[in-house]
Amino acid sequence: MYIVSACLVGENVKYNGGNNYNQGVVDFLKDKDYVLICPEMAGGLEAPRDPAERIEGRIVDRAGRDLTEAFNLGARRCWEKVLCAGDPEKIEGAILRFGSPSCGVGKIYDGTFSGVIVDGDGVFAELLRSKGIPLMTDKDFG
Ligand code: SF4
Repeated sequence: MYIVSACLVGENVKYNGGNNYNQGVVDFLKDKDYVLICPEMAGGLEAPRDPAERIEGRIVDRAGRDLTEAFNLGARRCWEKVLCAGDPEKIEGAILRFGSPSCGVGKIYDGTFSGVIVDGDGVFAELLRSKGIPLMTDKDFG
C-alpha cells in the first residue's frame, strides 16, 4: 500500500483551490493499493486558504496566523486514516507533494514566502519518516 498526497491525483485540496495532478503518479498507482491523504484539509483548513510555510518548527500562513496546531492535528488524523486503511507492515512507501509544509520531503520553503527552499520535511512527511516509511515526491515521477 502507498500513501499519496491527494492533490497529486487531482483532488482540489491545494491552498489555491486547485491541485497538483501528476500523470506519472497516476500511472504508477494504476495497479497498486493506496490511500489518499491531505493533512491540511484533515486539520480543518479549507480550500482555498492562504499559503503557509514552516519556520523554526512552527507553521505560519502569509497573513501571519500560527497554524501549527491545525497542521499537527491533520498529520495525526492522516496517520490514523492510513492505519484504518490497512496493515502498516504492508506500507511500501509514500508519494508526497514536493515542497509542501505538510507533505514536503527533504526540501521545504523557508518561511519567508520568497520562494527560497531549504532542507527539511513537512509536518506529515516528518511523521512518516519517524515511522521508517520510504518517502518519495512527485518529482520522482516526472
Ligand atoms: S497538504 Fe499535502 S495533499 Fe494537501 S494540498 Fe498540500 S501537498 Fe497536497
